Amino acid sequence: MMLKKLEVFTAKINTVNIKAWGSDKKSIKKLMGSRDSVSPIFDAAKIALIYGVLGGLWISFSDRILSSAIEDTQKYAMMQTYKGWIFVGITMVILFLLIGKRMCLFKYALDMAAEENMKLAETNKKLGNAEEELRVKMEKLRTKRQALVEIIDMYRKERQLADNIINNVAVLVAIWDKNGRVKRINPYAEKLLGYTQDEIAGRNWVDVVVSSEDQEFMRGVFEKVRSGQTLKNHESRIMDRNGNYVDILWNSSVLHNNDGAPTEIISLGTDITQRKALEKKLHSLAYYDELTGLSNRVMFENYMRDLLEINGDSKESFALVYMDTDNFKHINDTYGHFAGDILLKHIAGVLKEQVVSPDRAVRLGGDEFAIILTGISSKVQIQAKLDSLVSSLRKPWIIGEHEFLISFSMGIAVYPEHGEDMTTLLKNADTAMFSVKEKGKDSYAFYSQQMQEKNLKHIDMINQLRRAIENEEFLLHYQPKIHLESGRIIGAEALIRWLHPEKGFIPPNEFIPLAEQTGQIKEIGAWVLKNALEQKKVWNKMGYENLKLSINLSGRQLSEESMAEDIGELLKGIDMDCNGVELEITETAVMTDLEAAVETLGKLRELGFRIALDDFGTGYSSLTYLKKLPMDTVKMDRRFIKNIESDDADKAIIEAVIQMANSLKKHVVAEGIETISQLEFLRKVGCGFGQGFLFSKPVTAREFEGMMLRVEENMKLVNM
Ligand code: C2E
Ligand code: MG
Ligand code: MG
Repeated sequence: MMLKKLEVFTAKINTVNIKAWGSDKKSIKKLMGSRDSVSPIFDAAKIALIYGVLGGLWISFSDRILSSAIEDTQKYAMMQTYKGWIFVGITMVILFLLIGKRMCLFKYALDMAAEENMKLAETNKKLGNAEEELRVKMEKLRTKRQALVEIIDMYRKERQLADNIINNVAVLVAIWDKNGRVKRINPYAEKLLGYTQDEIAGRNWVDVVVSSEDQEFMRGVFEKVRSGQTLKNHESRIMDRNGNYVDILWNSSVLHNNDGAPTEIISLGTDITQRKALEKKLHSLAYYDELTGLSNRVMFENYMRDLLEINGDSKESFALVYMDTDNFKHINDTYGHFAGDILLKHIAGVLKEQVVSPDRAVRLGGDEFAIILTGISSKVQIQAKLDSLVSSLRKPWIIGEHEFLISFSMGIAVYPEHGEDMTTLLKNADTAMFSVKEKGKDSYAFYSQQMQEKNLKHIDMINQLRRAIENEEFLLHYQPKIHLESGRIIGAEALIRWLHPEKGFIPPNEFIPLAEQTGQIKEIGAWVLKNALEQKKVWNKMGYENLKLSINLSGRQLSEESMAEDIGELLKGIDMDCNGVELEITETAVMTDLEAAVETLGKLRELGFRIALDDFGTGYSSLTYLKKLPMDTVKMDRRFIKNIESDDADKAIIEAVIQMANSLKKHVVAEGIETISQLEFLRKVGCGFGQGFLFSKPVTAREFEGMMLRVEENMKLVNM
């Protein structure tokens, strides 16, 4: 209780003091005076000094005053006590004032210090909190930093890996800005393109490595990629520094910024040039003829199928032309396949030049070609196109020292007139071509129904001919050869006849060309030779040793390499020599391959045969050939003889041929003498020998023997 009261009292005193002296800064300043700080020793000394001075003064003066005023010692002693109490009271007040003020200041300072301490504690607390917060944040930051470091490290490694891959991979890596300007290419691309990164960076890709013809296409591709399309396995062609094309398989994608706007295009490209070349090669092997580069039969059928599909509804016409190279086999056989190949390339070259898209030229195989002519409205148009083509093909073709005139047999089938499907069109074009061949080649013809019928007949004929060979339905007729001056028979020409079981006699002109085409001539020719020679042997035995026998050989037989050997074998087989036997070769057969003919005829002559050049004047051969050819007789074609009475030019030719032959010591035989005046002219101009209906038609061996007997007295034949 007491304590509580004391606390209240002290608080009041404090309040009073503070009020008395002021607790604001101003009062404190007043208290502090001009001092900045309080010196406790000085202040204590100051109070002690004041106390000392006051005490001294009090003792000195109070004692003197008191001793002068009071004499009574008792009273004096009592006053001395009172004086002591007064002194204590005064000094108490003075000390209270002096110390109280300072104590207040001290308390104020303590309060201030406590307040400051509190503030400091609070600040410290706040600081502590902040520090904690900071520490947590720092911790978080550290974690984040660690993660970032790890990410950066990972990124660096990935970047390194990516760089490694980009720099070493055998794939073209290109990065462009969104406008197609090059930002980066990898070393592989540098090598592939022939441009360094520095040379190409910043330049527009399309302008630098895309050929002008591909630029539009490539810009389109960039546009697509830019618009967000990811191009997977996209193929395009670029051009390296040297202008070589490189085929690339691309995979491209776009990189975007945070706003989603395209910033870069990145593409990976694989060099597929070799693969493309291989594909091209395979495609070419499948669809193109390797030798000539023309489309092949497969491609041709594709063209046809497409055309038939497109034109199916409109029925718009197109023409299919089948072309067969005349006498190609002969060139191939004689000059070798190399020459044949050159010729085929030459033909293909002309076709490529002349047959322009959408028309098509193809090689069907061997010496056969085909042309598809589109957008035609009349046959005249087709003819015009073919005429122009033929005139280009007709130009002389030269190989080595040889000059050839190439001709073609062409058959035309027009869609839809001659067929509405591929098979029919092909068949009919082939039929038309075949009919051209039959008629003597070097021409073209449109398919017709009659051709078809003829073709069927033709096929029938081939079959019948085969049967005829098997059944030996042939026989030989003999036409006498006359010494014109004396009129005596000096020999006979064996001429084949076909005795058809139903049709009777079929003349050689109707089946020999066919047999030549089919190759059946080989067997027929052998049959003729064997039978004619056996007949000669019979006649020799009958005493007609001096009778000359002429046997016709076909051009096809002449082109058989082993012909001379085969005939030699045959002679051995029938045990006779060929003395007095003359082999007739047509001029056209010789002309197709003069050199080969010279060789074969030479061999035949070595065997002992005489050689006659048949149908002379039909093959446009020059008279100088007479000198070159190993032969003994010239048989002037019936055509000249026929015109003796009417054509002076023919007369002049006959005279020239005779003169030339005489000077070369060759015999001349005039074919087809039918009239006396023809005979007289020929005698007059010195023609040695002749054949013709004027003397006799070809007759059977029996009839011929009869004829010989009838003129027995003339049998002393002119020794030739
Ligand atoms: P070629 O060798 O020039 O034979 C002469 C042809 O003229 C024969 O026709 C003959 O009958 C005919 N002829 C003869 N004199 C006259 C005449 O005064 N007037 C007329 N208009 N014609 C006459 P053929 O027998 O029909 O033979 C035609 C051709 O067939 C022959 O012409 C020959 O090139 C060929 N030929 C005939 N037999 C054979 C043969 O066994 N083998 C070969 N490869 N061809 C043969
Ligand atoms: Mg003849
Ligand atoms: Mg003749």
